[in-house]
Amino acid sequence: MTEIQLTFPDGAVKSFAAGTKPIEVAAGISKSLAKKAVSAKLNGQYVGMNDALENDGEFALITTSDDEALELLRHSASHLLAQALKRIPKFANMHFGVGPFIDNGFYYDTDNGSGNQVSIDDFAEIEAMMHKIVAEDLPIVSREISRDEALTLFKNDPYKIELINDLPADEKITIAVQGDHVELDKGGLVPSTGWVKHFKLTSVAGAYWRGKSSNPMMQRIYGIAEWKQADVDAEVKRREEAKERDHRTIGRDLDLFFTSQEVGSGLPVWLPNGATIRRQVERYIIDKELANGYQHVYTPVLSNLNLYKTSGHWDHYREDMFPPMDMGDGEFLELRPMNCPSHIMVFKHKPRSYRELPMRIAELGMMHRYEKSGALTGLSRVREMTLNDGHTFVEPEKLEEEFKSILTMMMEVYRDFDITDYRFRLSYRDPKNTEKYFDDDDMWEKSQAQLKRAMDDLNLDYFEAEGEAAFYGPKLDVQTKTALGGEETMSTIQLDFLLPERFNLTYIGADGQDNHRPVMLHRGIVGTMERFTAYLIEMYKGAFPTWLAPLQVQIIPVNVDAHGEYSRDIQQKLQAAGLRAHVETKDAKMGYLIREAQTNKIPYTLVLGDSEVDGQTVTVRKYGEDKTQTMSFEDFQNIILTDVSHYSRE
Ligand code: ATP
Ligand code: ZN
Repeated sequence: MTEIQLTFPDGAVKSFAAGTKPIEVAAGISKSLAKKAVSAKLNGQYVGMNDALENDGEFALITTSDDEALELLRHSASHLLAQALKRIPKFANMHFGVGPFIDNGFYYDTDNGSGNQVSIDDFAEIEAMMHKIVAEDLPIVSREISRDEALTLFKNDPYKIELINDLPADEKITIAVQGDHVELDKGGLVPSTGWVKHFKLTSVAGAYWRGKSSNPMMQRIYGIAEWKQADVDAEVKRREEAKERDHRTIGRDLDLFFTSQEVGSGLPVWLPNGATIRRQVERYIIDKELANGYQHVYTPVLSNLNLYKTSGHWDHYREDMFPPMDMGDGEFLELRPMNCPSHIMVFKHKPRSYRELPMRIAELGMMHRYEKSGALTGLSRVREMTLNDGHTFVEPEKLEEEFKSILTMMMEVYRDFDITDYRFRLSYRDPKNTEKYFDDDDMWEKSQAQLKRAMDDLNLDYFEAEGEAAFYGPKLDVQTKTALGGEETMSTIQLDFLLPERFNLTYIGADGQDNHRPVMLHRGIVGTMERFTAYLIEMYKGAFPTWLAPLQVQIIPVNVDAHGEYSRDIQQKLQAAGLRAHVETKDAKMGYLIREAQTNKIPYTLVLGDSEVDGQTVTVRKYGEDKTQTMSFEDFQNIILTDVSHYSRE
């Protein structure tokens, strides 16, 4: 009998009879391990728990506590789905494409030809059949077969035949068998159907075979699979909420912004409601920066291309830039993709003394980036954007101090907007792809280490990401989650020793010499107005705090003829106090108008009738509350003024 040698992750080497199954190996170690083990890997390749081990090599068991195990579960759920479909008479002749796991779930591409199309109304029946197969607890076994065998086995499945024919001649062909069901499959599956207990089919959508529009359109059936039912329920809930809070949906419902092909992809139009939110953010952040020693400037969105040649953007960032405009007289103009060169020109405009440092230049700077059309999303990824940009020119020895003070300010801003769900990322250059970055190994090592040290000093948690740096230096990014579950950079602080070199920036030191080189810090606190507003919309689900709400007070006269004048009087007083109020004169039932104010998430609704006019009072309903309260106008004004001063609290 032949023996094989398995090397375990801890380095131990043990001998087994060839043909031993991973489940036997696991059982030999402990009963509980055998229960938890989902699959095994031999030399990095999956070997199912019921499959024979035939070779020596590095051996590892994957258990339910490994993240990877979820992928195997989801992959197996797709097989389970296919098997269930085949057992349902109206889908018995269905053809199958591919059925992989994906983030949070799985799908299978199906084609029932001219037969019944799958609809969500079929899901209950399909799920019931899946549960039946789970109860049968069919062992899942993989097996290598010859190409001829494969072509015979799948002769009724044209998509599988195509996949087989596309495999290189020397590639092994394996199948996974569970009871009466056979899949063309490379492995990475749970031991038996009984393992796939908690799942749910979620949607069905059209998908071209292999993603090509010249190919047949298939039906892609999506599902969720988890180890626990509670996780399935949580995922279902998360998806419902995500849909509800998607900023594009809310943006349309609340008339905040729109994008259209007529205007151009990635070029959003801010409607009055959205513009009000943005203006509030802009006022807030400008005030905050002025209070922190920033000087605000206005610089052109368009500059001579040479500026971006000097900065290096032209060499390292060109694919994100709009093409230059040839003016015909030898001048080339470029829409700026970043504001740094403009602010550098502000610094360079005059000789600078160390006494002026740190010099903090800020601007709500509009810039243009040619983002891929597939990546464009509502307000969160656009082609024209306005960045809350700032550049600090600082003496090298004061760099760390300035970095920390920016971080402090950033966290104050987050507090004012009630943003709590974020994480810090230290973004380094990609060591395998250094040509994308300025070529100065020393600079990279030094500045990356400096950034890390500052974060460690501040005792802040962070994760590190290679390949996310700017081309001129490493950065600290603040990563926030979008409603759809993705992660985006909101704020950023970037160290830069390079652009000061490139532009030959100097300042006069204490020694009187104008030959000292400043360091630059690039930073965006609220990021771009576009992405930040998208984030706020999703975070608040459109129910903005009063200071940001497009309309703060909706005034509804019970009878426009009788109470209109009093209503307008109240509106004027509120406006004079800097508040945003509107009198609703539409001819509709009171109940409808009140409900509409709630749907539009207006923080305060005032209903004014005879008794309010007589008593010079207002009857107030707060958003999200059922009760109303009658009070003097002055009391109401005090309440709302306190409410809007929220962000200046200390
Ligand atoms: P991303 O990785 O998201 O493309 P980036 O790393 O290129 O961003 P920076 O050059 O650091 O971004 O830009 C500063 C800020 O501008 C980012 O923190 C982000 O908030 C915002 N931003 C970048 N690209 C876009 C875009 N296409 N649409 C809206 N906001 C953007
Ligand atoms: Zn910059």
